[in-house]
Amino acid sequence: MTAPSPHAAGPLFAAVDIGGTKIAGALVDSAGTLAHRIQLPTPARESAAEVLAVVHRVLDHLAAAPRWGGVTAVGLGSAGPVDLARGTVSPVNIPGWREFPLTAEVAAHPAVGARPVALAGDGVAMAAAEHWRGAARGADNALCLVVSTGVGAGLVLDGAVRPGPSGNAGHLGHITVDLDGEPCPCGSRGCLEGVASGTAIARRALARGWRPAGDDRSARAVAEDAKDGHPVALAAFDRAAQALAAGIAATTTLVDLRRVVIGGGVAAAGPVLFEPLARHLDRYAALPYVRGLDVRRAELGADAGLIGAAALCR
Ligand SMILES: [Zn+2]
Repeated sequence: MTAPSPHAAGPLFAAVDIGGTKIAGALVDSAGTLAHRIQLPTPARESAAEVLAVVHRVLDHLAAAPRWGGVTAVGLGSAGPVDLARGTVSPVNIPGWREFPLTAEVAAHPAVGARPVALAGDGVAMAAAEHWRGAARGADNALCLVVSTGVGAGLVLDGAVRPGPSGNAGHLGHITVDLDGEPCPCGSRGCLEGVASGTAIARRALARGWRPAGDDRSARAVAEDAKDGHPVALAAFDRAAQALAAGIAATTTLVDLRRVVIGGGVAAAGPVLFEPLARHLDRYAALPYVRGLDVRRAELGADAGLIGAAALCR
């Protein structure tokens, strides 16, 4: 056993964040500081065993750290859906993993030993991170969203992150905001994600005649043109903001909360998203207890998944 370094106060956690494009790992101390980081591409189209092999490489790297002996628990954040009761994950964008026993496979890694392994979906992990160290700090009730290629979210209620029985509470991307809308890969239709994700913003802009100046056809390029006043680009962000406002208003009205934290690549567009969002929230969040919601930008960026995975070990 290697003793924890003397400057590391409190427990040390190993965190692994599994997404459709990257698998990241780090050691996280009780101040939320990341060390001994690693990030590898996700072989998302490969077999279950090949994806797991990358997770094991991340664990190998973490276990080689001098401070590994001080690690008290392993936290896993994964693209969802997840099943906490069974310790399985079925990430939509990793087809090889369906009801994949992630918790058991990580616990079986030789270096993990008897350490407990905690699992969460990525939206819940982000909410845990922002509640611990970010823009939801100090809020007893908050909705934390990630708006990027998809739309995920997690809920803080009565002072704690609430994953729900299966671990998927706050799955805001798949509530219906358009009653007769497009079919969604989840099986429903008119889902928020199908209107407000970065993918949806770019698709809508392209369908209405927006053409990028360069090779980038993503929502990031749409955002740049929107900042320059391009009407189709502005309209695509306005539509996404309208859908987000409807989803946020529904959630805050349902569970009675005022703090809303928004992160992810689409949120990085800044005022192009947040200005129409405020306007639409003013229309949809109508009852007195949800008027004037406290909407904030997320503070932890791409590290939220790792910090959240560690937060769940606490
Ligand atoms: Zn859906």
